[in-house]
Amino acid sequence: MALKQGDKIGILGGGQLAQLLIKAANKLGLKTLVFDPNEDSPAFNIATEFICEPFSNQKALESFSKKSDIVTYEFENIPLATIDIITPHCKVSPNREALKIGQNRLLEKAFINQLGINTARYSQISSKKELLEFCKLTASKSIIKTTTSGYDGKGQVVIEPGKINTAAIEIIENTECIVEEFQEFHSEASIIASRGESGSVLTYDSGANLHKDGILINTTVPSKLPKELEIEMALIAGKILNNLDYIGVMGIEFFVTSQGLILNEFAPRVHNSGHWTLDGCLINQFEQHIRAISGWPLGSTNRHSNIVMTNIIGEKITTDIKENQSIYSYGKKEIRAGRKMGHINTIHE
Ligand code: ATP
Ligand code: MG
Repeated sequence: MALKQGDKIGILGGGQLAQLLIKAANKLGLKTLVFDPNEDSPAFNIATEFICEPFSNQKALESFSKKSDIVTYEFENIPLATIDIITPHCKVSPNREALKIGQNRLLEKAFINQLGINTARYSQISSKKELLEFCKLTASKSIIKTTTSGYDGKGQVVIEPGKINTAAIEIIENTECIVEEFQEFHSEASIIASRGESGSVLTYDSGANLHKDGILINTTVPSKLPKELEIEMALIAGKILNNLDYIGVMGIEFFVTSQGLILNEFAPRVHNSGHWTLDGCLINQFEQHIRAISGWPLGSTNRHSNIVMTNIIGEKITTDIKENQSIYSYGKKEIRAGRKMGHINTIHE
């Protein structure tokens, strides 16, 4: 059943993505209730209501779900046990299966490969011996990643051929990890896709992404990728969303290589590389997500401007902005190295 004016959206996680989802919900006449264990959550400032409790607090979660008309999440590392407490009382969108796969790199890669979509060659590893065996199969560098809980390149170690360092051994012996072949890509790109209750899928134009040390620095649209790659990304997105019976917005990241597109990962939520849509489209990714999970029709994903989205990372929000720039501050109290403080959308020719 579609949400109506004044209904309440429960959001798990209170970071900047929740903040931008709340703004979209408010615009549409909907209320919000944010759940996050961190008392400094940026989204608490603008949510209709918030609950500051651990994701394991059953009583608080029950109250949260009874007060919500639909529950969604702003990051994929929400424990599945949390979802299981909510589900008897309130529908969760995107669904549990999408979250389960999206939060575990092993499940994610197996799922993607089973759909006939290419990923980097990978293997689960838990010992130096297994790592050595994997490295024998590949002439290039490899990259170790924690199977779960990674974001912004955290929990990743790159290893040169034949040179296994102590950081690599430490991480695989202490945490569940995968190793994957390092991709010597030409560029990185992503696509933001959405699927509504009716099963219709709409994608935004792909963005060209620049990362440094695993953190997204900027996204440029148009991506200037060949048309056939744009189409391939949209078709891949449709395949994934349909297969998961997905409702909401998803961000899908790719490496563009001489062998074609290699899917890096997907995020079952709104995505940093889709922040350009705030100033490039009539309906941005946040509003699209709210429309989708509310059972409303999706909006146009047409792009009306050329944009570079630049993250403000580990530094103060600048006031030195030009007339063609739109700035977003997440209102985070503490500036830390590598922390996303805001972003700027610059409209260009
Ligand atoms: P986020 O969730 O913030 O996007 P993450 O921590 O889940 O990041 P990934 O997306 O897997 O991590 O990796 C972050 C970045 O590290 C990639 O965008 C890319 O620049 C680089 N990277 C990751 N895996 C590979 C690989 N196999 N080959 C080359 N570069 C890689
Ligand atoms: Mg990524």
